[in-house]
Amino acid sequence: MKREHRDIQKTIAILKDLVAFSVLGGDSNLSIAGYIIDYLEENQISFHKVMNDRGNKMSVHCRIGPARDGGVVLSGHMDVVTTEGQHWTRPEFTLTREEGRLYGRGTTDMKGFLACCLAMVPTLKKKTLVKPIYFAFSYDEEIGCLAGPDLIRDMKRAYVERPAFAIIGEPTSMRTITAEKGVAFFETEVVSTAAHSSQVRNSLSAIEETTYLIQWLLKKMDDFIDEGNIDPRFDPSHTTIHIGKIRGGTATNIVADHCLFEWDIRNIPKDSIEKIKESFEVFCMQRIAKNKTVFPDFNIRTTANFPIVPGLDTPLNEEIVALVNGLTHSKAPGTVAFASEAGQFSKEGFETVLCGPGDMEQGHTADEYIEVTQLNTCLYFLDRLADWAKMEHKHEQKNEKV
Ligand SMILES: [Zn+2]
Repeated sequence: MKREHRDIQKTIAILKDLVAFSVLGGDSNLSIAGYIIDYLEENQISFHKVMNDRGNKMSVHCRIGPARDGGVVLSGHMDVVTTEGQHWTRPEFTLTREEGRLYGRGTTDMKGFLACCLAMVPTLKKKTLVKPIYFAFSYDEEIGCLAGPDLIRDMKRAYVERPAFAIIGEPTSMRTITAEKGVAFFETEVVSTAAHSSQVRNSLSAIEETTYLIQWLLKKMDDFIDEGNIDPRFDPSHTTIHIGKIRGGTATNIVADHCLFEWDIRNIPKDSIEKIKESFEVFCMQRIAKNKTVFPDFNIRTTANFPIVPGLDTPLNEEIVALVNGLTHSKAPGTVAFASEAGQFSKEGFETVLCGPGDMEQGHTADEYIEVTQLNTCLYFLDRLADWAKMEHKHEQKNEKV
């Protein structure tokens, strides 16, 4: 490992505390958010809470430095994914250190980044920042980036100045990532009328109808490839449609009156999830029109499981790309196939990239771990960011951006 950063032990201690909060996406996160705001209070940083309607979840944001335009938001989420059904050989919610690795759910995705940010608070305070640095920590990211939009809206309301940049600390092995796919989850329900299975000729199976719908979706994905609608920056290089779950029917000898399937779209930036969904709806309407005349109860209904999470496609000539490339000493920004809150920040006018410690290969897996060297690299990155924020810059006033 290169020289140990002075805050590395503190970072590991904070990470240990954070991992112990087994807050999954969907759970109340007041415990871990409470820990973070206590820590900010101890360090005399004033903060804002963004509560959900029920009052059992909160995002937290704060500013370190002056109320001046052009600052940088460091964004992360407090929730993690479940460990259920996974074979862990180490405790899931207790940090275990072994040979340069720190094991535990969320170490990589993405409490390692949160721990680095928090550990750096005293350092950030000490440096006389000219540009502010903000923390924006959300909940329910893992179940559809649900808290991002409210958090971003609240930041725009809370600060008179306009932050220009957002760095999303998702695990990228500290590489600059400028593009990612968007995502949406849907549930489609087909309703028909039950009948004895000998009556297949004068009844309509919801399962059979479902196969047509699934075929349509899979063909749609093939069409993208056949039409050359690809973006070689991504792997896979096209928009994907995937059927993840299906449930229907009652018994072998009953024509199914009901079938439900869950599916997702992950789009490359030039494709629109809305448009794909619209054309699917047109096909469904055709099926309904065809079948309803004979089977009046027949229906197909598609609902979104959460609002569409926009993808990210930050132009390489934006200032944030040069800035983060400079701070990470890297030249070639990459792309990732997973979705995050990055697209939500970008949509709200922030110049946005992803850059964070750890490798997403370990995210969501059994025995998730992060290398201590990754945390170390992140701390140096934040140090350099703070040094950048100490300097006066020529090209100020990015107000029009946000
Ligand atoms: Zn994440």
